[in-house]
Amino acid sequence: MVEERNGEVILDVQDLKTYYYTPKKTIAAVDGVSFQLKKGEVLGIVGESGCGKSTVARAIVGLYNRNNTYIPSGSAMFEGKDLTKLSHSQMRSIRGKHISMIFQNPFISLNPVYTIQSQICEILRTQMGMDKKQAKERALELLKLVGIPSPEERLKCYPHQLSGGMQQRVMIAIALACEPDILLADEPTTALDVTVQAQVLDLMEAIRKKRGMNVILISHNMGVIAEMCDRILVMYAGVIVEEGDCKEIFESPMHPYTKGLLGAIPSMTEEKEVLDTIPGIVPVFTPPVRECRFAGRCPYALEHCMAEEPPMMETSVDRKVRCWLYEGKGGTSE
Ligand code: SF4
Repeated sequence: MVEERNGEVILDVQDLKTYYYTPKKTIAAVDGVSFQLKKGEVLGIVGESGCGKSTVARAIVGLYNRNNTYIPSGSAMFEGKDLTKLSHSQMRSIRGKHISMIFQNPFISLNPVYTIQSQICEILRTQMGMDKKQAKERALELLKLVGIPSPEERLKCYPHQLSGGMQQRVMIAIALACEPDILLADEPTTALDVTVQAQVLDLMEAIRKKRGMNVILISHNMGVIAEMCDRILVMYAGVIVEEGDCKEIFESPMHPYTKGLLGAIPSMTEEKEVLDTIPGIVPVFTPPVRECRFAGRCPYALEHCMAEEPPMMETSVDRKVRCWLYEGKGGTSE
């Protein structure tokens, strides 16, 4: 087993912003996000749809539409390079080889007109410099690794000839093909049924441990996050509102939004006729934002919350929260 955690920073994201612009307004999809991915860890990013978690991932790997999206500021440092400043071709040499991404919907991500073999071999030949024979052998190994039965036959299949679970395994095989340093998994099991979900998560965890891979797991599913992650970032309306050890956050959430998210999970021990919900939806903001972004949905909102956005406050080692309720209660602003 290669698993190792030593606190070495693999990816350092600082004040990352990503804005979408429309003819009428600019939307702050990600508005100043800072975090570090440390060696050997699984870092979870959690939040409702539209909170900006997938946009963070896409900004890091340069997979966003430059016609309507731009990065006004911030950095994502990997091996001495700021990924947000790289050209398309420089980024292509990093994607796959050093940083891979698994998307939510394998059917959209796989190319329908190429066989599984040609899609895996293409990456192995371009990124790893393998010849045709080496690439085919490696593709076969990868399909075996991700538990695909009759891998020889599956290599000849087109994506539509495989089930959703099989397609997702192929996506994982492609993501792992170059043994990347960082795996960015964006809702990797959301499109799958519950049994296959569990299989795919077990598989990812086994491969991660075996290869000592560093993972960022993005999900709206708190159950998946609890099972897989060491540390989590809770995102809301483009910013991180809480950060800390996964177990600690699940046991004692601080931010009212995190409390709401956890209150919406069915409990194994407590009987509830109706699960808690957070009224309303994630709002979108045009920069600059002045108030607390959660104020419109927060049961504890004070006048101050409407006038000034709270900074991230460090309440203990490796624990941060963005809420005025913690000012002066161990909360020191950054
Ligand atoms: Fe609620 Fe105020 Fe805290 Fe925002 S700062 S989460 S509105 S209490």
